[in-house]
Amino acid sequence: MLKGYVPPYNATVVQRLLDQGAVLMGKTNLDEFAMGSGSTDGVFGPVKNPWSYSKQYREKRKQKSHGENEDSNWLITGGSSGGSAAAVSAFTCFAALGSDTGGSTRNPAAHCGIVGFKPSYGLVSRHGLIPLVNSMDVPGILTRCVDDAATVLGVLAGHDPKDSTTIQDPGKPFMLSSLTDVSKLCIGIPKEYLVPELSSEVRSFWSKAANLFESEGAKVIEVSLPHTSYSIVCYHVLCTSEVASNMARFDGLEYGHRCDIDVSTEAMYAATRREGFNDVVRGRILAGNFFLLKENYANYFIKAQKVRRLIANDFVNVFNSGVDVLLTPTTLSEAVPYLEFIKEDNRTRSAQDDIFTQAVNMAGLPAVSVPVALSNQGLPVGLQFIGRAFCDQQLLTVAKWFE
Ligand code: GLN
Repeated sequence: MLKGYVPPYNATVVQRLLDQGAVLMGKTNLDEFAMGSGSTDGVFGPVKNPWSYSKQYREKRKQKSHGENEDSNWLITGGSSGGSAAAVSAFTCFAALGSDTGGSTRNPAAHCGIVGFKPSYGLVSRHGLIPLVNSMDVPGILTRCVDDAATVLGVLAGHDPKDSTTIQDPGKPFMLSSLTDVSKLCIGIPKEYLVPELSSEVRSFWSKAANLFESEGAKVIEVSLPHTSYSIVCYHVLCTSEVASNMARFDGLEYGHRCDIDVSTEAMYAATRREGFNDVVRGRILAGNFFLLKENYANYFIKAQKVRRLIANDFVNVFNSGVDVLLTPTTLSEAVPYLEFIKEDNRTRSAQDDIFTQAVNMAGLPAVSVPVALSNQGLPVGLQFIGRAFCDQQLLTVAKWFE
């Protein structure tokens, strides 16, 4: 729909970087309209994970593949902001921006071995960010270390009259001190995040990280986020409903693609949207319109909003009980090969992969994925820290200690 489109104004995040002298190198690839978890559905084709070409991974694959075409083994970056993660991971730039509605910054960061930071909702302006779910979207920051993420946050954060959800006083600057003592910290481990789909390797890195905090004197406790199991379904209803409404602006009249059909305005709208959106986008528009039908609105949309509040309250309760940050996996496993990812049933898996990230967006909290170690296959694995709303600085300070 927006292929070749050049916007007439800069997003606030872009303008703030330019104002500080940043050199903008270009736009990066992503899933169409940021819908996806693989960066396999972009209009420019799928994004390849730079780790596909690491020596260690190549060697391991060779042992396993018995001579099958090596090039078919390349790995997905995760998504939807996979192009940004690949660009940083391949050392082509200092930092990249992504968007994070349900995990799209943290997921590809974990798969590409870099830091992916989703700020608190309201800390960074969304003006100029194409909306997916207005109440969950946040511009995300991808860097190679936590300090760099804090530097970029310092440039981006702050009130913007063009985004009424931004807070007045973001508490800048975001300078991270080096934490030397974690003994006053309380780290929560949500028991519901120990899902059967979690790979044993990620699970073991997760528990090693918890042990590290404990051995350095932090209090590490098991906590409960009881509504976690509803989060994927709840997100789906809210996301598609907002998508149905947000995508209405793409009608071929004012900007973007317009089809050649001119028999009637309705026929032009329909053909433009059929041609301009991929299956994923069209599917979400249809699902969202179904949930918003007069007879379904109360049963789906309103109910999902109530569940969202319960999910958000789970976090409030945990933080009120004295927990400073939560420690969780970012994804279920390391990056998978493209051919494996695009198999039908793995699409469902890709939705489940957001289990550790989506609830955070529904609660508006800050969260950061940091690389923890390499798997047996020689691929990066990330762990996620989740903080209290607007305690982004504290969250990043803990993540910096850990990285
Ligand atoms: N994977 C989720 C989705 O497709 C999240 C996307 C995002 O954060 N932009 O909706």
